[in-house]
Amino acid sequence: MLIAAGSDAREAAIVADHLVLANLSGHDSHGVGMLPHYARNLQAGLLHPNQHIEEVRRDGSIMVFDGRAGYGQVIAREAMAEAINVSRETGLALVALRNAHHIGRVGTYGEQCADAGLVSLHFVNVTGHLPYVAPHRGSDARFGTNPICIALPDTELEPRIILDFATSKVALGKVRVAHNSGKKMAEGLLIDKNGDPTTDPGVMWEEKVGALLTIGEHKGYGLALMCELLSGAIGGGGTLQPGNVRDTRIINNMLSIVIDPTRLTEQNFIASEMKAMCDYVRASPPRKGEENVILPGDPERAQRVARKSSGIEIDDETWRQIIEAAAAFDVKFE
Ligand code: NAD
Repeated sequence: MLIAAGSDAREAAIVADHLVLANLSGHDSHGVGMLPHYARNLQAGLLHPNQHIEEVRRDGSIMVFDGRAGYGQVIAREAMAEAINVSRETGLALVALRNAHHIGRVGTYGEQCADAGLVSLHFVNVTGHLPYVAPHRGSDARFGTNPICIALPDTELEPRIILDFATSKVALGKVRVAHNSGKKMAEGLLIDKNGDPTTDPGVMWEEKVGALLTIGEHKGYGLALMCELLSGAIGGGGTLQPGNVRDTRIINNMLSIVIDPTRLTEQNFIASEMKAMCDYVRASPPRKGEENVILPGDPERAQRVARKSSGIEIDDETWRQIIEAAAAFDVKFE
């Protein structure tokens, strides 16, 4: 479908791998269910196939790239590859990526840096469309779901730790998945057009007037605001303030810091100290009714094992939307 929609084989493979890995990791919100949205943006000329990063500025280990509204999965990967090269050389890289179409699961870029043995921090905002997330105390939406990722590479004693989440209590795509499956959301995640709590995912899709709530009350709101200002204002990509363009495009701006940990501390110390601390944390006895303590990255690892053997379940509505989107590019499913 991606090739039929204009991507070369390399791009199609990168995007497809990214989407399927998101599904395999348990994040259906960022999996193949995004294809219909991408198809709409391709047809509207808001997403451009076969783009590469354009260097806007380079100053020592500081880089600014424009993604030319290309597939974010390709664009962000290229920006991270540059950051990895610089960080290997100097120990530290700072990249402001602007104007990438949806970069998908941000953990992918943390994993890309971890593959290179590097630590990374990523702050992302989401612009180009209406806001979806209400600020703390607010009754309507003013932000995107502004994700943050902090990733530590494997040591000899511990697998990598990948913390990667939206600053809203759930990613918008999870509301889409619930809506497509005819399911209600859990309590405490959404508000309706009056700012009142609701469990109906339809407020984000049919009426388009509801809002997601941020994690951690004022603290998550603060993080969402910082994502907006770090990547959108300081990184130069633009924020979700109403003076900027709003249609159906999904533009991600990302400010990333990539660190070579061996420039700070000896590898053996990092490995043994991380192992000791992680073991200590895991050993906390679970509260009544709770499962064992695990670490960020563990759920995705477990899901990959489970879904690689059982497969990825796609609800009927999402599948119908994918087939319909593919048909627009003359791709037929038997
Ligand atoms: P989530 O709420 O499932 O949280 C995921 C994070 O929490 C992971 O790091 C996971 O390992 C960790 N985690 C989960 N359970 C845990 C536990 N019991 N103990 C310790 N750690 C645990 O994720 P989300 O907020 O719904 O986000 C899903 C995905 O959506 C992410 O990959 C994010 O990057 C992506 N996203 C992308 C955009 C975008 O615009 N590109 C916007 C929002 C979200």
